[in-house]
Amino acid sequence: MSKPLQAITGMNDILPEQTPVWRYFEQTVADLLDSYGYRQIRMPIIEFTALFKRSIGEVTDIVEKEMYTFTDLNGDSLTLRPEGTASCVRAAMENSLINREQVQKLWYIGPMFRHEKPQKGRYRQFHQVGLEVFNLPGPDIDAELIILTWRLWQKLGIRDKVELQLNSLGTSAERAEYRQALVAFLEARFDQLDEDSQRRLAKNPLRILDSKNEHTQSILVEAPKLSDYLGDESRTHFEGVKARLTAAGIPFMINHKLVRGLDYYSKTVFEWVTTELGSQGTVCAGGRYDGLVEQMGGKPTAGVGFAMGVERLILMLESIGTLPADIERQVDVFVCTLGEAAEFKALELIETVRDKLPKLRILVNAGGGSFKSQFKKADKSTALYALILGEDELLNQTVGLKNLRQEGEQQTIAWSALVDTLASLHS
Ligand code: ATP
Ligand code: MG
Repeated sequence: MSKPLQAITGMNDILPEQTPVWRYFEQTVADLLDSYGYRQIRMPIIEFTALFKRSIGEVTDIVEKEMYTFTDLNGDSLTLRPEGTASCVRAAMENSLINREQVQKLWYIGPMFRHEKPQKGRYRQFHQVGLEVFNLPGPDIDAELIILTWRLWQKLGIRDKVELQLNSLGTSAERAEYRQALVAFLEARFDQLDEDSQRRLAKNPLRILDSKNEHTQSILVEAPKLSDYLGDESRTHFEGVKARLTAAGIPFMINHKLVRGLDYYSKTVFEWVTTELGSQGTVCAGGRYDGLVEQMGGKPTAGVGFAMGVERLILMLESIGTLPADIERQVDVFVCTLGEAAEFKALELIETVRDKLPKLRILVNAGGGSFKSQFKKADKSTALYALILGEDELLNQTVGLKNLRQEGEQQTIAWSALVDTLASLHS
């Protein structure tokens, strides 16, 4: 049990030092998705438990052991969302966004909750950016999702550090046939499998393919391959995705063992993987889920999407990515005053400046004291300039302006020239 004055294990505060990078990331993502014509949707973070059981599947890691589920005061079983696709599909169905085969290109960002073992890149509250596209069945849209993430990696300066892995899971009928062949193959070798894989054999045998156990992996070398069970349509679709990625100049590798943890995928699945984060290497994962809407009680509806792990991308961004040069700076001008009359005058002047220069970040009331101690605070605040108003300035109707990041004389500026001077410094 955690103590009441501590955050819950695996749930992190994102502190003021960290939020500039988060905001930069969020803004970059939002601008990019705007430019591709995707529209943002915001869903509740709690849903009926049944929604996740029905969409994600009962025999998945998430539903079996990772969900935060509780009974509310009405006696309803509710769950903190472990992922966004189920909620997004629910919202799209409930609000008639995808009836009559309307095309929807949606995205969301927000916290997700999974009760797993916290470690670097793996938390109990974490954030995802998710994209979901409905009613576009072709390989062109699968490729578009990948192409736009590729552009994002470039913007973030991490393109060289991520690798695209691709596979096709075929239709559910094709997968069912493959499952039989795989189960038959593995049953004949049951005693050689690790315990986890033995357990999965009955419930979710495809998951055995991504077992971390080396001996199990050595057995799998000879196992039947899913690609041999794909029908013409699945094959053509997959070739269509690959051809578009090649045309876009995006390198990829085919990973026959990429099956994804959730039940609802079909045809294209993909992951962007990095070696920069230890074993938490997947930064973005997704695929096609043409059967999901129907499985959730709607009409057959093509769907494809992905989710990226924001914390993992932030870790990469901070260590090897490209951040704006002045990302650390959260204040432009720090106002230092001495005495109440000066404070009053500064307030009046600064509010006029705010009218004219709304983007200038001006910090006032940051703790008083002598000018010396205020200058110290100004320096620490990352501000570029200190604006100074004491008795002399009050008398002369001026302010002092000191560049905190360069050597040089303090400038004296008339009150009437303040807005223009700050405007020219800021541009
Ligand atoms: P993993 O194999 O790492 O557990 P997953 O297959 O469970 O990943 P998805 O459900 O596909 O993950 O979620 C999409 C992305 O969200 C992941 O690729 C990862 O970047 C991120 N993610 C998933 N779980 C966590 C977590 N507990 N903490 C931080 N990020 C996570
Ligand atoms: Mg997981």
